[in-house]
Amino acid sequence: MVKPRFQLDDVKAKAQGLWDNTIFPRFGIEVVLKKKKPCPACGGRDRFRYDDKNGNGDYICQHCGAGDGFSLIQKCTHLSFPDTIAEVAAIVGLDTTSNITDADREKWRKQKELRDKEQRELEHKLQENIARKAESIFRNAYLGDFSLYLKNKQIDKDPKIKITHDGNLLIPAYDEHGKMWNVQTITPDGQKLFITDEGGRTGGCFFMIGEVQPDLYDAHIICIAEGYATGMSIHMATGYPVALAFVANNQPKVGAALRQKYPNAVFVYCADDDSAKKNTGLKYAQEAQAITGGIIVLPDFTKIKESVA
Ligand SMILES: [Zn+2]
Repeated sequence: MVKPRFQLDDVKAKAQGLWDNTIFPRFGIEVVLKKKKPCPACGGRDRFRYDDKNGNGDYICQHCGAGDGFSLIQKCTHLSFPDTIAEVAAIVGLDTTSNITDADREKWRKQKELRDKEQRELEHKLQENIARKAESIFRNAYLGDFSLYLKNKQIDKDPKIKITHDGNLLIPAYDEHGKMWNVQTITPDGQKLFITDEGGRTGGCFFMIGEVQPDLYDAHIICIAEGYATGMSIHMATGYPVALAFVANNQPKVGAALRQKYPNAVFVYCADDDSAKKNTGLKYAQEAQAITGGIIVLPDFTKIKESVA
């Protein structure tokens, strides 16, 4: 056992602000502030949150409990408490002695790699499950012919979406290779739902209203909007194909995916200003524009033709 030559409070004070970017990585631990992640200690999916609430590397895991940075390191590395304090003290420069060997670090790095790999495989499996479910829901839908939502919004039905017998719209979300990963339901009163089971993929997935007819020589226009009603209104007003990103923060990923598929297209990002927070739509449209180039238009969308002319 290492006899501490320093006070725990001193180590804590020195460690403030260094937990996520300096201290944890030395033990092969990765956290993201205020974002739900798999727990580095027990691997519990989506049950772990790093909030650094008291500035001591604090975390909460619904599965294996809550604690501070010292406790998380102990759980992950099985070091004793005094050894953990001593090692953190060494990292923050209070002491120069460290008992951690390169072999320890290598072991923790490998453990982290294994955790990451398992996590990726699990995520992929869950996404594939939802994808199968989405395909089945879309394929087997019992069809109807009236959508109150379309009527209220005074917009057309794209031939590639479906109306169910109970008046819901079904809008598939595809990746750039045409694989369906999820399906959005819009209820008659305008509620929008994806398959809610854990782990479905929507990131980078989109639905294309109209047809893209890429001309290999000339630039062609693809509009990128959030929801169906806005997207279809733009399509009806302009005749351009419109990719639906479904939510604002998906616009950059959808832009990147479409760029791979349509290298010559000019993208017109149609930022919604009725997003939950003010300027959210514009912020993500700008992020997307930085990745793919193109034009941003704000409502009123009737100006699109002038902007791209
Ligand atoms: Zn845990």
